[in-house]
Amino acid sequence: MKTVHHWIGGQAVEGASGSFGPVTDPATGEVTTQVALASADEVDAAVAAAKAAYASWGTSSLAQRTSVLFTFRALLDQHRDEIARLITAEHGKVHDDALGEVARGLEIVDLACGITVQLKGELSTQVASRVDVASIRQPLGVVAGITPFNFPAMVPMWMFPLAIACGNTFVLKPSEKDPSAALRLAELFAEAGLPAGVLNVVNGDKVAVDRLLEHPDVAAVSFVGSTPIARHIHATASANGKRVQALGGAKNHMLVLPDADLDAAADAAVSAAYGSAGERCMAVSAVVAVGAIGDELVAKIKERAEKITIGPGHDPASEMGPLITAAHRDKVAGYVAGAAAQGAEVVLDGTGFTVEGYEKGHWIGLSLLDKVSTDSDAYRDEIFGPVLCVLRAETYEEGLALINASPYGNGTAVFTRDGGAARRFQLEVEAGMVGVNVPIPVPVGYHSFGGWKDSLFGDHHIYGNDGTHFYTRGKVVTTRWPDPADAPTGVDLGFPR
Ligand code: NAD
Repeated sequence: MKTVHHWIGGQAVEGASGSFGPVTDPATGEVTTQVALASADEVDAAVAAAKAAYASWGTSSLAQRTSVLFTFRALLDQHRDEIARLITAEHGKVHDDALGEVARGLEIVDLACGITVQLKGELSTQVASRVDVASIRQPLGVVAGITPFNFPAMVPMWMFPLAIACGNTFVLKPSEKDPSAALRLAELFAEAGLPAGVLNVVNGDKVAVDRLLEHPDVAAVSFVGSTPIARHIHATASANGKRVQALGGAKNHMLVLPDADLDAAADAAVSAAYGSAGERCMAVSAVVAVGAIGDELVAKIKERAEKITIGPGHDPASEMGPLITAAHRDKVAGYVAGAAAQGAEVVLDGTGFTVEGYEKGHWIGLSLLDKVSTDSDAYRDEIFGPVLCVLRAETYEEGLALINASPYGNGTAVFTRDGGAARRFQLEVEAGMVGVNVPIPVPVGYHSFGGWKDSLFGDHHIYGNDGTHFYTRGKVVTTRWPDPADAPTGVDLGFPR
């Protein structure tokens, strides 16, 4: 059986805690790999390596940093397929989807390659006689990143390329459910010429995370995962004096107005609800049908959902793969099983589904629940599986109020042909990312990604300008160089004006 260890100080380091976690191929249900779970001492070793590397990386030239980043980008491009295969083997998503994930991660590496422009700073000359003011941004030191299972390559790449480009060193704690892709990224970055200790990977669980949150040498923490853990990370790391951005879970709504192109809306709903088996923080999990279109829209969604091919991610015929674990599959199935008793119409029931030849895989089919009530469990919880809830609203205002009453505020979308209604929606909806006829509005790398309310704790969204701001701190330098011909200014106890 393969064992995944740690990457500390520029080399693979065997796990010494004696504790290992299982990594499963979700399509077969077999444990293929064991992952070392770091002790607090092993986390300390990674932080020490990062701290030592910061002494020179923090003052390295922009030219050196971008040179390594451009080489990393080229290696990543060459190894897209290999990384996508690692993702599919441990996460289960279909190969094409995994390639998409690598591409979206690469986009942030592109952004990091252009860090020279972002770190240019600002200069005002002659703000007073012979006085200039410069605003500069400097790195923080050692930054920690803690990432979820559902994007094992992309989410780490939302963090470390930009943090490292800004001059920080990094300790990544990937999800213990699918750790191999992150480790491979660290190897490639080292191959690109990244000095030892600038990027470290410690595998582990709560023990490793909690040590990072309290470690005095960790200056900042980027977290992406579920809302309860995001809240814990934000509270604990903040209490320990760290800068924190903690992105949490979601319940993303798609508002379909009566004038929308219903075929386009149904295509979008099926793609966004069932892609990656619904294990996306930007998945559409609730469609709100406004006016009299509900029955027609549900029929169109059903017709499309029934045609989706489910199978192992490495099979090019598969459009949707299995769920991450059997326990998660059973939890998702529980929401479908309980939906009717809580008033929903079960239009499609995906429970009990299996794939021939892969009977032990973590399969579940597509489920479609109609007329779901806002106080049902299927609506209130983030299910994180291929279950789409449809809700009905009489008017735009009712639909908007329903969406804004959700504790989550990650992504949302409106489908309409009415520009005025779309404009109102984008201003009135309480969410961090809005799509207009775009079901999964994940911002491009040079705009930041982040939700509102229980979908993000902290002030900074991730990547884009917010990313650069998060990974640097501002300093303002006020300079006076007197002209050699100037007379001495003399003593003045007044406040400088
Ligand atoms: P998770 O919260 O269970 O785990 C995330 C990370 O936290 C992992 O590295 C895990 O080891 C660690 N962790 C888990 N329990 C912990 C604990 N008690 N104490 C300390 N650390 C702990 O999330 P997941 O199941 O891996 O990922 C799915 C979740 O992530 C979903 O809720 C999804 O919406 C969310 N997500 C959000 C975004 C976003 O951008 N907002 C993106 C991707 C995923």
